[in-house]
Amino acid sequence: MIVVGLTGGIGSGKTTIGKYFESYNIPVYIADKEAKALMNRSKVIKRKLIELFGEYAYKDGKLNRPYLASKIFSDKSLLSKMNAIVHPKVASHFKRWLKKQDAPYVLKEAAIVFENNLEHQYDYIVIVVADEELRIERVMKRDDTSRKKVKSIIDNQLSDEEKIKKSHFVIFNNDLDVAKQQVEEIHHAILQKIK
Ligand code: ATP
Repeated sequence: MIVVGLTGGIGSGKTTIGKYFESYNIPVYIADKEAKALMNRSKVIKRKLIELFGEYAYKDGKLNRPYLASKIFSDKSLLSKMNAIVHPKVASHFKRWLKKQDAPYVLKEAAIVFENNLEHQYDYIVIVVADEELRIERVMKRDDTSRKKVKSIIDNQLSDEEKIKKSHFVIFNNDLDVAKQQVEEIHHAILQKIK
């Protein structure tokens, strides 16, 4: 199965663009969403996260995100330890999901690809970009968060310029109609490449 990575910085519009691909019957796996679901569902992950963060890692059976975020904020090494618990489980979940798909190719949405040198996991990479100011405004509105917080996440991610160089396709998502048109072109270009 051909796996196409759908990447881009925070608020670039990955999920929005993924939906346009879905309209061509292309299945989309959203790694972050599945990771969150597994953290609530998997008994093994739950046990290991409680070992790592303590009993307050879960509250009323649900992952206690603010608590985890505050622990990670004061001890950055906890993030890589948490990822070492969660990522292998997401990888095997993705493998099982992939086996069930019947499509010319699938998309896997993941914000982090180049930052962790994971390019080899994909046959092709599509990057979604948009002007920084638009991204900040969109995320502030979507998540009811501050400009400062969004900007600090952007500053921690690789620049669009560097990511574009390493991608096969670029979608400019300042304007939805333009982006939609590009999805159509890229979808057909991918079909052409894998034929
Ligand atoms: P994240 O990295 O945080 O997961 P993302 O890259 O998946 O974000 P989306 O969630 O698709 O981005 O988009 C961020 C917000 O911007 C959403 O509220 C979405 O509806 C809105 N949005 C996306 N593209 C556009 C656009 N072209 N015009 C206006 N709003 C947009």
